[in-house]
Amino acid sequence: MTISVAIIGSGPSAFYTADALAKSGADCTIDLIERLPAPFGLIRYGVAPDHETTRKVSRAFDKTARGDKVAFFGNTEVGRDVSLAELRQAYDAVVLAVGAPNDRPLGIPGSDKKGVYGSAAFVGWYNGHPDFRALNPDLNVKAAAVVGVGNVALDVARLLVRAKPELEATDMAQHAVDAIAASPVTDVYLLGRRGAQFAAFTIGELREMGELEGASIVIDAATLPTSFDDVPEDDRRIQQKMVEMLRGFADLPKDRPKRVHFRFNTSPKEVLGGDRVEGLRVEKMRTENGRAVGTGETEDIPLGLVVAAIGYRSPRIEGGHFDEQKGLYPNDGGLVEPGLYAVGWAMRGPSGVIGTSKIDGQTVAKHIVEAGAGSGQAGKPGRAALEKLLAARKARRTTYADWDKIDAAEIARARPGAPRLKFPSVEEMLAALGR
Ligand SMILES: Cc1cc2nc3c(=O)[nH]c(=O)nc-3n(C[C@H](O)[C@H](O)[C@H](O)COP(=O)(O)OP(=O)(O)OC[C@H]3O[C@@H](n4cnc5c(N)ncnc54)[C@H](O)[C@@H]3O)c2cc1C
Repeated sequence: MTISVAIIGSGPSAFYTADALAKSGADCTIDLIERLPAPFGLIRYGVAPDHETTRKVSRAFDKTARGDKVAFFGNTEVGRDVSLAELRQAYDAVVLAVGAPNDRPLGIPGSDKKGVYGSAAFVGWYNGHPDFRALNPDLNVKAAAVVGVGNVALDVARLLVRAKPELEATDMAQHAVDAIAASPVTDVYLLGRRGAQFAAFTIGELREMGELEGASIVIDAATLPTSFDDVPEDDRRIQQKMVEMLRGFADLPKDRPKRVHFRFNTSPKEVLGGDRVEGLRVEKMRTENGRAVGTGETEDIPLGLVVAAIGYRSPRIEGGHFDEQKGLYPNDGGLVEPGLYAVGWAMRGPSGVIGTSKIDGQTVAKHIVEAGAGSGQAGKPGRAALEKLLAARKARRTTYADWDKIDAAEIARARPGAPRLKFPSVEEMLAALGR
C-alpha cells in the first residue's frame, strides 16, 4: 500500500527527508508543503549572499524535487491554507520541517527601541525574504553592535563593512545593497558573554574576517584565554585553533577605513537612548567553569544599531505538541507522536549546519517506512485530498514548474556579475508567473 507523506517546509531537513524516503525503495508519495513560492528555506534566505558556493547545495535538492514521487506545494502555508489536523487526516505521515525562523528576544531594558533587530529579521531583510521586505532598518549610524559569537553574527558584521561593489556582485536584495552602501558605519562590535574559548565560529568563516579589504580587526590579545581546561575535551583542539586565529588578528594592520571589534566576556545590559538606540551599556564578565559571571564593571558604547544573533525558535503550529520553553517540537529521535515527526531545527533547535539535517531526514524516513509497513499506517489519500482541499479554498498554490519560472526570471534580472536578484515579495513572485 502506498504511504502518503506530507513534509511541512522545503529547507534542507525537508529535502533530506524527501530524498531518504524516495531512495528507501518504499512505495510512497512525498509532498513538500512550503509557505513561500520559492523552495530551499535558509539556503536561500539565511546563508550569507557573499557565500554563493554554499547555496549550490540546493542543486542536489533540485534533483530530489524533480523525482517522480515528489510534488511541491509552494505558497501553501500550514495554519493558513490548510491545518495540521487536516494534513494528519489526509496523510499517513506528516513531518514538521518548519525550521526555527523566529528570533529569541534580547530581553534587556531598552531592547524595544527603534534600531534593535533580531538576526532572523535582519538577515531576512538583506536576503530578500518577503516577511522582512518592510523592515527598513535605519543604517544612518556610525557604529553597530552584533550580539552573539556564532557564524550568523560574523555574517552580519562582515556584510555591514563590505563595500558596494562587493555587495553588488552577490544576490543581496537591492534595498539592502542601497542601505548598506549608503551607511556611514565605520565600527561594528561583536559581543560575546563568555570567553573566546566558547565562541561558536567555524574556522573558515572566522578566517574571512581577517581577509576583509575594507575593515581592520580590533582585538585585545590580552583578553584571549591561554588555558582551555574548561572547554569540553572533544572541542578543545578546534577551540584552541580558533583562539590562535583570533590572536593572529591582533597583529594585522589597522589601517583600513572600517573596524570590526571582537569583545569577549562582554554582556549587553541595557539599550540606551530615547525612542531609538543611541548606545549600549555592557558589563565586563569573567568566565568561570564555562559560565559568564558579572564583574559589575560597565561601559557605555555609543552606537545606533543592535543586531541580536542569539538564537531562534520554531513556529508553533496549532495541533502539534510544542515546547514553549525550548521553542521546538519535543520528540524521540524525530518521532513527535504516531504519524507526526520533526526534523532539522524544528526537531533539534537552531544549531548545526545544512548537512547536520541529513541524519535527521534519514532517521525519520526509516521510522515512516517501518510504521507504514508494520502497523499499517498507510493507505490514506494524501496528495489528492490536499489538492481538493486547496482547490475548494481557491488557494494560490504554486508548483515546482512555477518555481522554475521564478528562478529563471530572477536570474534574468540579476545585477551584472551577480547570480540572481530575488523578488522580495510573494506578489512579485506570483506576478512573474502572470498571476
Ligand atoms: C543566518 C543563517 C546563516 C546560515 N548560514 C549557513 C551556512 O553558511 N552554511 C551552513 O551549512 N549552514 C548555515 N546555516 C544553518 C542552516 O541554514 C540550517 O542548518 C538549515 O537551514 C536548517 O534546516 P531546516 O530545514 O530545519 O530549516 P529551514 O532552512 O529554516 O527551512 C524551514 C522551511 O519551512 C518553511 N515553513 C515554516 N513554517 C511553515 C508553515 N507553517 N507552512 C509551510 N512552510 C513553512 C519555511 O518557509 C522554510 O522554507 C545558517 C543559518 C542561518 C540562520
